[in-house]
Amino acid sequence: KGTLYVVGTPIGNLRDISLRALEVLSAVDCIAAEHVQSAQKLLAAHTVHIAVHNNTTHTRITPLHQHNEGNAAQKIIELLVSGQSVALISDAGTPAISDPGAFLVQQVRARNFPVVPIPGANAALCALSASGLIAPHFFFYGFLPAKSGERQRKLTSLKTLYACIPVFYEAPHRVLECVADMVAVFGPTREITFARELTKIFETIHTCILGEALDWLRADENRLRGEFVLLLAPEEEPDQEDISLQAVHTLAILQRDLP
Ligand code: SAM
Repeated sequence: KGTLYVVGTPIGNLRDISLRALEVLSAVDCIAAEHVQSAQKLLAAHTVHIAVHNNTTHTRITPLHQHNEGNAAQKIIELLVSGQSVALISDAGTPAISDPGAFLVQQVRARNFPVVPIPGANAALCALSASGLIAPHFFFYGFLPAKSGERQRKLTSLKTLYACIPVFYEAPHRVLECVADMVAVFGPTREITFARELTKIFETIHTCILGEALDWLRADENRLRGEFVLLLAPEEEPDQEDISLQAVHTLAILQRDLP
């Protein structure tokens, strides 16, 4: 029976890939990749492993991206039906996490073909692990809306996310306006951590208060380049005593005003 492998790949440093991922990529009949060229680059960087495991057959790479996922899924299911194995990879990190792949996996599982995850890098977890932020929970938001009004509305809806680290992905050309909206919504004293170009040459992990964040970004034009994960420090839950005092106060008003 054909199997779909969901394979995590590096987020920058091409050596951040597991031995198991390389074995699977070498052995499958087809690799469904978000960008064929990036996949070729990754495979070329690990030629030894590919040559050892795949010296007789030629692994096909087929594109699967946000604009063709429906059709590509159909073709991949046909391959699985004919008993072939397929590996799904995205341009970087874990497929289906702010990347295409979830629809394919849903369709494949609905037809009862085995789906095997092969864990690998993920920018959000990589950033969290090196942030030093402490909270019982984190909330992976991924990409915020591109327009400021909608973005501020979404950020506002996160204001009561207490004891939790919100984690965002952001494109370099939008990071300034995104941080400006965070200042507007959360105020200047909340801390932000920038995790930029993780695992790459210019990797930068910087923590400051939101009130200083725009100046930090603008201080060096290189800081506005590359890929970013933005993490906000957890907001403390309001004091339970304050809540109960408020409740007592509200109750007193209700008792006074209600008939
Ligand atoms: N599937 C990927 C994962 O597992 O993390 C995420 C892909 S998403 C299309 C790309 C976004 O992830 C970037 O805009 C950036 O926010 C974040 N990202 C990816 N690689 C990164 C890196 N090396 N350093 C910092 N952020 C990164």
